[in-house]
Amino acid sequence: MTTQEIIQAMPKTEVHLHLEGTISPETLWALASRNKVKLPVRDLAELRGMYVFEDFDKFIKVWLMMCSCLKTEGDYIGMVDGYVGECRRQNIRYAEVHFSPYNHEKFGMGAVKAFDTVTKRLIEAENAGGPVTRIIADIPSEAAPESGAFTAEFLESQENPLIVAIGLGGPEKGFPRAPFAPWFERARRAGYPAVAHAGETGGADHVHEAVLALKARRIQHGVRAVEDEAVLRLLAEREVCCDVALTSNACLTPFTDLRTHPIRRMIDAGVPVTLSTDDPPFFGTDLVREYRRAHEEVGLSMDQLWRINLNGLRFGLADGSSRVLVVFTLSIGTSILGVVLLLWYLRRRRRRILFLPNFGVL
Ligand SMILES: [Zn+2]
Repeated sequence: MTTQEIIQAMPKTEVHLHLEGTISPETLWALASRNKVKLPVRDLAELRGMYVFEDFDKFIKVWLMMCSCLKTEGDYIGMVDGYVGECRRQNIRYAEVHFSPYNHEKFGMGAVKAFDTVTKRLIEAENAGGPVTRIIADIPSEAAPESGAFTAEFLESQENPLIVAIGLGGPEKGFPRAPFAPWFERARRAGYPAVAHAGETGGADHVHEAVLALKARRIQHGVRAVEDEAVLRLLAEREVCCDVALTSNACLTPFTDLRTHPIRRMIDAGVPVTLSTDDPPFFGTDLVREYRRAHEEVGLSMDQLWRINLNGLRFGLADGSSRVLVVFTLSIGTSILGVVLLLWYLRRRRRRILFLPNFGVL
């Protein structure tokens, strides 16, 4: 089997993916036409041209434009179906998706209706063979303080079985992480642990704030933690996992050459990491490609990739029994590997494990 085939067949996890960010230019064009939303482009080709990102400002502009095109239940169902189809195509078994209640209240069909629609469809997909998906309710930083208060209140008032955490998205520049602490505290009191984007377009100080002020259990990106050894040590000591997205970083951060991407330094420093796409069509990628790039360009071994994959469950925020169930699912078709995985999972210790003796049978 080629590396590509092995990665394709490997049952995978992905925990840093924005549900809205799975919408392709073709789908966005269809949504805008159907809902009579005027886009700042003349045709689909021009819209495709907009999906080339070299800075975060342009990215967020397209992002908000996209949110304003989601108007009906059918639009949200279509978005979920597209996401589920991609998971099945790539054998992604467990995912945590970021989804922003504030943006759907402001631009879409309302936060409660949007979450209810998406949740129902995701549960149907899970019952029909997967993937197992959980939701992170993100505060978009650019709309704070309004978005912070709205998200905290939303989490306090909802009993959604799929929401597992509060998150923080949006731009970092001009938005330090610490001021979001009161809303994170409210969410924590309502039973939701924290994750946060930091150390992507912001520096290591943002990662530091996310860990200490927001008490983030995982950091989305976190790659600029390498600018400060003390922050790297903090992540390693507290076992705060960083959900890295290589191609996204290559587009929006100075880490354009993956041969020198900080993920290697993070791993060497003992920081747990996962691999994700962030917003696949926005960066012309998918999870299979991210793993392949990590192997071929970053130079990570297949053993390292497998451990990174398992970190999606080890640091995932779904309840224990759901994750154990996914571990069992992962074991299908992997025979001995599945047993090793289960033993590792049950021990849940930070230690190296020896494998993959039979990876090739996947
Ligand atoms: Zn992200």
